[in-house]
Amino acid sequence: INPNNLKLTISAASAKQYPDTDIPEIALAGRSNVGKSSFINTLLNRKNFARTSSSPGKTQLLNFYNVDSKVHLVDVPGYGYARVSKKEREKFGKMIEEYLTTAPNLKAVLALVDLRHEPSEDDKLMYTFLKFYDIPVILVATKADKIPRGKWNKHVSVIKKALQFDSTDDFVIFSSFDKTGIDEAWTAIEQYV
Ligand code: GDP
Repeated sequence: INPNNLKLTISAASAKQYPDTDIPEIALAGRSNVGKSSFINTLLNRKNFARTSSSPGKTQLLNFYNVDSKVHLVDVPGYGYARVSKKEREKFGKMIEEYLTTAPNLKAVLALVDLRHEPSEDDKLMYTFLKFYDIPVILVATKADKIPRGKWNKHVSVIKKALQFDSTDDFVIFSSFDKTGIDEAWTAIEQYV
């Protein structure tokens, strides 16, 4: 997969706009501010392709990034904004749910959590949801540069335990700041495309 051969296929507001292709899709999910945009930009070797932290209240879209016509990385809006109204959150949850449960080309989800912290309730909900629907997960623990290497294993254990991590899923330790985990992330993605 050549990450430089890149285009935004569509920013979809609803299911009828999802692209009608058979290119495999890998979605990205994570709490707002987890480092999802930075992850996409790092993976795709771009500075500002995925825009960082779309603010609450803005239209929530699913962005389909076509990478080398081999995979669509599907950027799902970040969850867990405290300041968003309950109604908005529900609408947004429905959009994600609709996509994750009906997308015919969805192969796996890159689920992002912060390596520093215990997963949030929303993180746990997302992982449980994905496992309920038998969707393979590539768990990506972000911001690894903030934790000394000697403590990585401990943090990984805490995260796995909190999520009741399925041992058949992949786990990638990642940092956009020092470029840790890019190859591991691509290797994990490539097994599904
Ligand atoms: P998003 O809301 O999930 O798209 O998160 P962003 O990519 O916008 O990042 C949120 C914040 O975390 C920003 O201040 C980033 O600079 C910071 N951040 C993102 N990735 C990393 C990382 O790998 N290491 C560190 N230390 N900070 C990061």
